[in-house]
Amino acid sequence: MQAYQIENILYAGVVGDALGVPVEFDKRDSYYIDSMTTGTWEQPKGSWSDDTSFTLPLLENLTAGQSYDELMQKFVNYMFHNEYTPNGVAFGIGNTCAKALRNWSVNHYPALESGDKSVEANGNGALMRLAPLAIDLVNESNLDQRLQLEREYTSLTHRHPRSIVASYIYLEIIHSLLNGHSLLSTLDTLPNQLTKALENRPSELKELPYFEAMFQPGFATTLRKDIKSTGYVVDTLLASIWSVLNSTSIDGAVILAVNLGEDTDTIASITATLASCENLSDHINDEWKSQLQNKPLLDKFIKPFAKKETTKS
Ligand SMILES: [Mg+2]
Repeated sequence: MQAYQIENILYAGVVGDALGVPVEFDKRDSYYIDSMTTGTWEQPKGSWSDDTSFTLPLLENLTAGQSYDELMQKFVNYMFHNEYTPNGVAFGIGNTCAKALRNWSVNHYPALESGDKSVEANGNGALMRLAPLAIDLVNESNLDQRLQLEREYTSLTHRHPRSIVASYIYLEIIHSLLNGHSLLSTLDTLPNQLTKALENRPSELKELPYFEAMFQPGFATTLRKDIKSTGYVVDTLLASIWSVLNSTSIDGAVILAVNLGEDTDTIASITATLASCENLSDHINDEWKSQLQNKPLLDKFIKPFAKKETTKS
């Protein structure tokens, strides 16, 4: 992979986030979005949210080879000190992430035990930041090794096995796409691979059925009204996969996703990321990208990461 392709993937995710911010929580078909605008959160157009603000520290951490504690400190610097933000204000942070950061910074829990492991804590707050990890692991051929890191990076904020399995599915799809497989063929083979790999992890294995709809051959033809678009990690992942399967371009996938309503920023961001991995010769709309707030800050973390990933052997 070339550095510009990695940059395209990461920028697409930020654009999806920023397109979705103004309509986050809005009901499906109460609006139509195909450009940068303002709305929910009353931020200037092109403002990206917590999805990106949690992704930038991960990029920085992976570029520098830093520890989980160093990553948690960066998350805290975002939540309490407004670092990694488009306009100097942290907004939209989810309860589970906030709780994990309090557990780590105030209650001194170990980083890997800071995430909430209750079944109520299965929002998409870990999923939304993790794409860089899959890019970093693109040449790691040992599945168990990849799953372990995916589990650990998820656990910093989300420790319920459903959230962990959601990360496995999302990140393993990215891994497969970046290794040249199509989304359809990946969806065909992934369940068996995961079932085998999780043989000795029954608490995770029993979560796989929650995601099974996306692995059915006819999933792409599911009616739009039957696709949920909430912040529940299962809904978010299914809505994103559905949007990619029903589009022929990155822009098309993002427009489909952002107009589903409710958790629009995260669903559009994850959709854009997946669509970019599936279409490595395509790139996100230049006009949308040029309208992003605080581009220098995005470049500061995206460019060194892309460079590092293409120069490592
Ligand atoms: Mg958000």
